[in-house]
Amino acid sequence: MIAERMKPLMANNSAIRLMFEEGDRMRAELGAENVFDFSLGNPNVPAPDEIKQAILDILEEEDLVVLHGYMSNAGFEDVREAVAESLNRRFGTSFGSRNILMTVGAASGLNVTLKTILNPGDEVIIFAPYFLEYNWYVKNYDGKVVQAPTDKKTFYPDIEALKGLITDKTRAVLINTPNNPTGVIYSEETIKQIAAIMEEKQQELGRTLFLIADEPYRELAYDGAHVPYVTKYYDNTFVVYSYSKSLSLPGERIGYVVIPDEMEESALVFETATAANRISGAVNAPSLQQKIIGKCVDAKVNLEAYDRNRTALYEGLKDCGFDCVKPEGAFYMFLKSPVEDETEFCAAAKKYNILMVPGSSFACPGYVRLAYCVSYDTIVNSIPAFRKLAAEYGL
Ligand code: PLP
Repeated sequence: MIAERMKPLMANNSAIRLMFEEGDRMRAELGAENVFDFSLGNPNVPAPDEIKQAILDILEEEDLVVLHGYMSNAGFEDVREAVAESLNRRFGTSFGSRNILMTVGAASGLNVTLKTILNPGDEVIIFAPYFLEYNWYVKNYDGKVVQAPTDKKTFYPDIEALKGLITDKTRAVLINTPNNPTGVIYSEETIKQIAAIMEEKQQELGRTLFLIADEPYRELAYDGAHVPYVTKYYDNTFVVYSYSKSLSLPGERIGYVVIPDEMEESALVFETATAANRISGAVNAPSLQQKIIGKCVDAKVNLEAYDRNRTALYEGLKDCGFDCVKPEGAFYMFLKSPVEDETEFCAAAKKYNILMVPGSSFACPGYVRLAYCVSYDTIVNSIPAFRKLAAEYGL
């Protein structure tokens, strides 16, 4: 007998599981090199070499009782200080360890943030398309997701619509840039517009409104694209960060939340978030992973590999006649389905051994997501298959 609130999640899970099983079945039957699996956002670029060396050094250098022991629920002081200094160097901020809460990746960081600020019935506004796990995170704290529209040509937020959606039930607006699934990066102008509306609404409603910036893809920005640092534009901002993608460490579960001094009652919010981290069951972020971050705070994955994939896939798909926005960041492409029902398009793609995720899994039917964190060969070899798929739709 499982909990009622888990039942819809489990129904959705079986759809995802079916998709993975289908991929495994196709690989076993056809050979992995003949399956063009663009369904998973699992980094294929290895973690930088410094990571391995840091692990070896830490095990040699650290007092193992301290290393493996319980610690402050916010994380090791020296690691939080190193993260703060790195942010200050790169973004001209003035954070200290008091502003950095180490978390078990962004998923946990988001849960900690929402647990800290949501009362039952509070609304969180999210621009669609978005990472659908947000729905479950918000539900964990009896909150409600309110979807806000984006421009379907650019996937930029519809600022006027945002204005109309903020009410006395709103507690937060959640943005994700660089974006999963579109790869879009919000410009400074867009961040300023969101901040201005939230500021105005805060005054008008006499109610604290938080901006949550979910930034696991911050470091994956191409052609020198600028990703504005959101705390500079709006005081009540949480930045949720993760090393899952920026250092290719998704299984290691490490990230952090920034709670700036400028936030209302910042110290109380920080203490509350620290307690939320503890009682969420995470207790604290994994200690070895924290120490790795302390040593490799400015390390980077090889962005060129993703960039090469991005260009090859984008140009290949365009050449086949497909319609999509060239992603500026992350490692996803959001393709317009040539037919209204994108699940039908995904099913047709399978005939050519192409696996992609329907846009309805991101609250945006009519599109499909391709994760191009795959080998370059997969991209190159998939283009003839896409060409056949395009021909089926007369493109
Ligand atoms: N937010 C977005 C937009 C994501 O795409 C993901 C993972 O794919 C997460 C959060 C969770 O990342 P993490 O592995 O850091 O928990």
